[in-house]
Amino acid sequence: LDPTNENFTPEEFDVEKQLRPLSFDDFTGQDQVLENLQVFVQAAVARDEALDHTLFHGPPGLGKTTLANILANELGVGIKVTSGPVLDKPGDLAGLLTNLDERDVLFIDEIHRLSPIVEEYLYSAMEDYKIDIMIESGPNARTVQIHLNPFTLVGATTRSGLLTAPMRARFGIQSRLQYYKTDLLTTIIQRSAEILNVPISMEAAIEIAGRSRGTPRIANALLRRVRDFAQIKGNGSIDIKIARYSLEALNVDAYGLDEMDNKILSTIIDKFKGGPVGISTIATAVSESTETIEEVYEPFLIQQGFIMRTPRGREVTELAYKHLGKIKGPIQGG
Ligand code: ADP
Repeated sequence: LDPTNENFTPEEFDVEKQLRPLSFDDFTGQDQVLENLQVFVQAAVARDEALDHTLFHGPPGLGKTTLANILANELGVGIKVTSGPVLDKPGDLAGLLTNLDERDVLFIDEIHRLSPIVEEYLYSAMEDYKIDIMIESGPNARTVQIHLNPFTLVGATTRSGLLTAPMRARFGIQSRLQYYKTDLLTTIIQRSAEILNVPISMEAAIEIAGRSRGTPRIANALLRRVRDFAQIKGNGSIDIKIARYSLEALNVDAYGLDEMDNKILSTIIDKFKGGPVGISTIATAVSESTETIEEVYEPFLIQQGFIMRTPRGREVTELAYKHLGKIKGPIQGG
């Protein structure tokens, strides 16, 4: 299970959509973020204005896209969805912007991956609801200014560190999403099971939640797979026995760590005596970018108590040794 993989089959995409909360009331967790957003939405609606531009950052699968859709629903406006890598020409952006109705939401996923030209173009749209577009070409080329309807740009990024300072400064509202505790994921799993019409015991929901890497997307994906096992190997309902059996068969780690999480831990132990070691050295050793390690993997490993940040670098904890069944001591393996 790769939390960064969003390439769903059409069937999976439908289920994903079905499970997506549509209102603030449906959304579990992120209490502080939600409370603030509710105030900002109410205030904007009362003033008859577009909501301020809003940036969500945090690891994949925690609800950024979901919140963008909820914002549009709660504001009672439409939403257009695109992403940084897709918008590669200013013309594409102009097309989207000029098609927005009054106070609509424009959601740009992976906003840190916008090309510099498109980003530049977005600035005046965000600031003054105006864009300059070039018409005709050659000697007749000229730019005309187009006024846009007031709109709300909602940006999502897993790598806030890669966002340019001028871009970041243009978001009046910025919220960081946190990993979900097991009790919240349990609630999310119970809600999803109800939508999918599959009976699940409390114990089984807790078991799946505990192995979901703090991430609702993973919780829902595991639930769907366990449902398959329950249907074929059991009696259709999910109890603790079938949940454990399925998670075992799926090779899901007891702590919900994925392959890269485990690779990072074993690399620090085997190659660097458990640390301390610098983040870029770790990144090179596991062939991943420093930013991804820092923003996607490390926060979860720190939160779960597998890694500590020290002034001299990252160090694994006793828990990491125990989890991987390794013994603290001289360099092992190689
Ligand atoms: P992101 O955009 O941060 O990668 P998404 O918004 O696409 O994450 O969320 C992934 C899936 O997880 C959604 O389809 C939704 O069903 C589920 N989800 C996310 N956050 C919550 C939540 N707080 N409560 C219930 N389900 C959630």
